[in-house]
Amino acid sequence: MQSWPRPSIPRLVDAGLGTGPVVRIHDTSRGDVVPTDPEGAARLYVCGITPYDATHLGHANTYLTFDLLQRAWLDHGVEVHYTQNVTDVDDPLLERATATGVDWVELAERETQLFREDMTALRMLPPEHYVGAVESIPLVVDMIKRLEETGSVYRVDDDLYFEVRSAAGFGEVSGYDAETMTRFFAERGGDPDRPGKRDPLDCLLWQAERPGEPAWDTELGRGRPGWHIECSAIALHHLGTAFDVQGGGSDLVFPHHEMSAAEAERATGEAFARAYVHAGMVGYEGEKMSKSKGNLVLVSRLRAAGHDPMAIRLALLAHHYREDWEWFGDEIGAAEERLARWRAAFARPLAGSAKVLVEQLREALANDLDAPAALAAVDAWAAADGEDGEAPAVARTAVDALLGVA
Ligand code: ZN
Repeated sequence: MQSWPRPSIPRLVDAGLGTGPVVRIHDTSRGDVVPTDPEGAARLYVCGITPYDATHLGHANTYLTFDLLQRAWLDHGVEVHYTQNVTDVDDPLLERATATGVDWVELAERETQLFREDMTALRMLPPEHYVGAVESIPLVVDMIKRLEETGSVYRVDDDLYFEVRSAAGFGEVSGYDAETMTRFFAERGGDPDRPGKRDPLDCLLWQAERPGEPAWDTELGRGRPGWHIECSAIALHHLGTAFDVQGGGSDLVFPHHEMSAAEAERATGEAFARAYVHAGMVGYEGEKMSKSKGNLVLVSRLRAAGHDPMAIRLALLAHHYREDWEWFGDEIGAAEERLARWRAAFARPLAGSAKVLVEQLREALANDLDAPAALAAVDAWAAADGEDGEAPAVARTAVDALLGVA
């Protein structure tokens, strides 16, 4: 699948500013902030959208988190190999297509294109491999066959299930107890009550064709892949085992990331990812943001209303990525004011030295992507005067490279 254009990203090392420190990031599975210091190249997988209501601010907040992580890694001097999927066939997409009388393929293509345009406008670094579920069906079939060889796959009617507890590490991503797992599994697309399952938490690998739904002919029969195995198969194929970071929103901790990791570990005998990083949820004026509540704040609508995408980016950066927070309409106005102040400061002929600012930005990002601290550092630099003629250009370059704000 086609990715989107890569924004230009200045290299501070080429400007004589050296490189940034080792990046430390919060790993959900260890419950702690840990160093991530890949040798040579970092490998990142971020779960992509199911393309039926792209791109609300919650999506943008998640992808911005991993954009910052990449910028911090690049500044530290490592290459980044980044893969993201698109769940372009799944129940929510098919339900929406049926409900609105739109062909599901058209719906997926339209929303994926809108997502690309939003990501481009927000200057998000694109994945090297942007991969759809449909085009990955052969990878998924291969992976299910590997799991069958381990004896961890069984049938319920014509569907295939994975015995989650056959994976030694099952439960280590989320750390949840059985009751919490069962509750989230039921709330987030799982089927704990289906008769014939060996364990309520066992997850669907392959769903046999249902009347009126798309299906593909494979060695496993006619059907379509489950959600979790899609990401396991795509990530392993493009990144290999024990890649550096598996990322997504915190609603993916369980079941999605737990199940994907269990399937991959069972199939390969090796760890799936080294760290699991999760962005908080963005609500809307006291409620969960959701299509059913009709309160989605879409990036495309903010853009159409004339808001500078860089102000949208700054509005999101004003919150730490792990925070759950609420969007109120005035967030964008505050961000636009800040953007105007910064741009005026970058346009000054003279300013205070930007060397300290560069160090502060690097420290803030390396400390679990502390964007609010980074914004405060730029605010302070912009508010102070000085006699350095090169400082405005250096500050502008650092803000562009590290925060992605042009
Ligand atoms: Zn995923």
